[in-house]
Amino acid sequence: MLGSGPFIVVLVLALGFFFANARRLVGYMQLGQPEERTDHPLVRVRNLIVVGLAQRKILRDPWAGVMHAAVFWGFLVLTAGTIEIVLQGIVPTFSFSFLPAPLYVLYTESQTAFAVAVLAAVGWLLYRRLVIRPQRLQGDAVGQRDALVILSLIAGLMLTLLLMKGMDAAGGAGAAGLARTATWWTHALLILGFLNYLPYSKHLHVITALPNVYLSNTSGPGLPGAMRAMDLEPEGVEEFGAADVEHLSWKNLLDGYSCTECGRCTAACPANITGKPLSPRKIVMDVRERLLEKAPVLLGESEDPGGILEHQLLDHFITEDELWACTSCGACLQECPVSIDQLGVINELRRHLVLMESRFPPEVQPVFQSLERNGSPWSFGPADRALWADGLDIPTMAECAADGRPLDVLFWVGCMGSFDARAKRITVAVARILQAAGVRFAILGQEERCNGDPARRLGNEYLYQTLATATISTLNGYGVTTVLTLCPHCFHQMGTEYAQLGGHYDVIHHTTYIERLLAEGRVPLSDAAGGFETISYHDSCYLGRYHGVYDAPRQALRRALPVVTVLEPPRTRDRGLCCGAGGGRMWMEEPTGTRVNVERTTELLATGAEAIASACPFCMTMLGDAAAASGGTVPVYDIAEIVASRLAPGVTPSVTPSVTPAAGPTTARTGS
Ligand code: SF4
Ligand code: SF4
Repeated sequence: MLGSGPFIVVLVLALGFFFANARRLVGYMQLGQPEERTDHPLVRVRNLIVVGLAQRKILRDPWAGVMHAAVFWGFLVLTAGTIEIVLQGIVPTFSFSFLPAPLYVLYTESQTAFAVAVLAAVGWLLYRRLVIRPQRLQGDAVGQRDALVILSLIAGLMLTLLLMKGMDAAGGAGAAGLARTATWWTHALLILGFLNYLPYSKHLHVITALPNVYLSNTSGPGLPGAMRAMDLEPEGVEEFGAADVEHLSWKNLLDGYSCTECGRCTAACPANITGKPLSPRKIVMDVRERLLEKAPVLLGESEDPGGILEHQLLDHFITEDELWACTSCGACLQECPVSIDQLGVINELRRHLVLMESRFPPEVQPVFQSLERNGSPWSFGPADRALWADGLDIPTMAECAADGRPLDVLFWVGCMGSFDARAKRITVAVARILQAAGVRFAILGQEERCNGDPARRLGNEYLYQTLATATISTLNGYGVTTVLTLCPHCFHQMGTEYAQLGGHYDVIHHTTYIERLLAEGRVPLSDAAGGFETISYHDSCYLGRYHGVYDAPRQALRRALPVVTVLEPPRTRDRGLCCGAGGGRMWMEEPTGTRVNVERTTELLATGAEAIASACPFCMTMLGDAAAASGGTVPVYDIAEIVASRLAPGVTPSVTPSVTPAAGPTTARTGS
């Protein structure tokens, strides 16, 4: 050792430089808008343990995941050794040998074992990056170089640590002692160099990942949170949504620091997969790049060399086409190992486009107009809402309130279920199952309006809040507590996002409700043989990824069709591919790349199943269109239709739906 003096000087300089950089980055982050992230501390701790420490999402990728997790866990264990080494630089005789002997042995042995494991993992990761070169890791040259620098630094740390361990075991003095000192200094300098490289590297996530996971939304690991609440009448605020980084929340900016550039999000993105100009990884990297470009100028740390304050995140970094390509499917959020909210940025930029600049695809204009005039995305008025129920003996809430009839649920039909020719068959099927099971239910009928979800997804928050508050007022007027929906978008919106506006209801999706009725033996089913033997089920994003409802639809199929086998496509459950209708894409053209619904339907058809089942009228339309366009005869049915087709004879004789191949392209796809 050279004595503690030189090391203390180096240590103070290195830590001082590191903390100055950390302060700078925190200052940049504070340019973001306030956002509350201290709610549900227990959920946050669970997320930290499950996603952060246990690396659950990293491990979704078997090989690379195990290697990354090995490096992460290795680093956690080796941190104890790092502390010991740094303290030895200050007090040369320091050692953890004061620990009880078994614990100390465990500590020293674990250091060696984990150093070997990390070294092996780094070797594999280098091989993968340089030789295998998976598509999702192909970034810019700077990113590649950065990754190689970091992996080399980690390898250097492990090698010097193992060398020291070896020398300690061998003992020795003189030349051996000098070599040990040189190795110690190399190791210590590598630690301090690594620490100070991080703020300039994409591997800043080494520091920010765990805090980022703790501060992520609290709807659960991998699940997208509710869309950010928005005050439309804030005092002195002239910006709605976001056009630049300072309009985003501080959490969006922390997300930028935390991105590992692993590309898992982009590899799962249906827009990207089908050739659209959207990459969620790029969205997050753009936020970071723009923040690092603009923040020093805003904070007076540097002069604008020209142009920085003239352009903005929107348009200069992220284009309109990227934003409108998003289906809000949540696959990016599901895959991100550090719980970044890519979708949150897209939503805020969409809000700015619509609310501040009235910039949106032309085909969306009639949707907004119809929502304003008719309370529906299509040009059907309230008078047409309950035509599907003619002759079915279904009461309205007004009738039930008038004669004080008790109800189990309000059946919220939704716009697709009310107006779309194909979807109305699902609505009838649900109603018949409820009747057969003796459920006491009513509909709003002509009082129902769009709950506002399409407007919100399309960035029109003003219109959304108008529609949503009107619906909440109607529901509260009837004292509604339990809502049954047949559309996952209504299910999510009313059950999750309405809370921001004071609407609190127990909302249940029809597949979950029907499965419960079947399990309780309340649905009289036919004893006759028949029905499909093989069905491929498509997971709706807003039912599956958003709310974890995967088993109930499959179980309902098995209960209604005892001999059925549910065939899973390669992308299924929380890895399921979107149908292409979410995020308001239902009402937009798809001129670039291949069609998302074709991509999805092709893999469902490839299972060889006799039929495709879905649980969302939007999915039904998208899959039905693509299945019909494929020229095949495989039908697409909602779970409710399949269950209703198995109702016992005589239970609902007049309307038990016949299950026949799906019709051609359905109506109600445009806003006209
Ligand atoms: S929400 Fe879906 S479509 Fe949008 S960026 Fe994420 S993965 Fe892509
Ligand atoms: S946002 Fe998440 S999944 Fe996407 S590249 Fe960054 S770390 Fe990976």
